[in-house]
Amino acid sequence: RLEIRNLTRRFEGKTVVDDVSLSILPGHVTCLLGPSGCGKSTTLRMIAGVDTQDEGEIYLDGALISDNQHHIPPEQRSIGLMFQDFALFPHLSVAENVAFGLNGPKAEQRKRVETLLGRVGLMHHIDAFPHELSGGEQQRVALARALAPKPRVMLMDEPFSGLDNRLRDGIRDETLALLKEEGTSVLLVTHEPEEAMRMADEIALMRGGKIVQRGAPYNIYNAPVDRAAVSFFSDIN
Ligand code: ATP
Ligand code: MG
Repeated sequence: RLEIRNLTRRFEGKTVVDDVSLSILPGHVTCLLGPSGCGKSTTLRMIAGVDTQDEGEIYLDGALISDNQHHIPPEQRSIGLMFQDFALFPHLSVAENVAFGLNGPKAEQRKRVETLLGRVGLMHHIDAFPHELSGGEQQRVALARALAPKPRVMLMDEPFSGLDNRLRDGIRDETLALLKEEGTSVLLVTHEPEEAMRMADEIALMRGGKIVQRGAPYNIYNAPVDRAAVSFFSDIN
């Protein structure tokens, strides 16, 4: 369980993330929705540990991973990241990319790599290099790489936005199934109302650095808190 309490971040005196609290249960997907500049990526960056909050605490399974004095470094947080520009290492093979964050016996690493590549349907490309793969294939490798160390939480910042519509639906469903299977908690930023309705167990709406509404997708859809939310969800057909 990921728990964020009263997270606040200021840049040059401007409060960009303002007293945000959230909790995400194991295996649950929470979608963070809101207009450009409202603080979504900044929130994810603090949870990942690549940015530091001015106030607030972050707990993972009851253990403090960050407050304004103590910060566990990103690579020790058991938190995976997937961004739009997922950038595989171009000079490493698919297998080496997926194994990148793994330690321990080589044979076990190999087993994990093969399991994940099998799961995303890319075993036949195990020795390929990123430039030999399509965009969708690269994205699936990036997913396998992010999941390889078995993170307890996965943070996804518009991970599917670089893909065309047809490809996106398949990869999105596949990703969700894999994350559920692994019991990973997910915090997903998206601009796609359908994606949120389809993937989320819970939706959190963000405006000007604050969470203004939280709830099950169906409840938010039926009773949006403001006009922006009404028009956001009205795009769904
Ligand atoms: P988008 O949907 O466009 O990705 P977002 O909700 O992810 O937007 P953030 O990237 O979190 O928005 O940025 C929130 C605000 O914080 C913006 O006004 C941005 O300019 C500001 N900001 C983010 N990072 C920094 C920084 N390192 N220095 C100064 N201001 C920053
Ligand atoms: Mg962003």
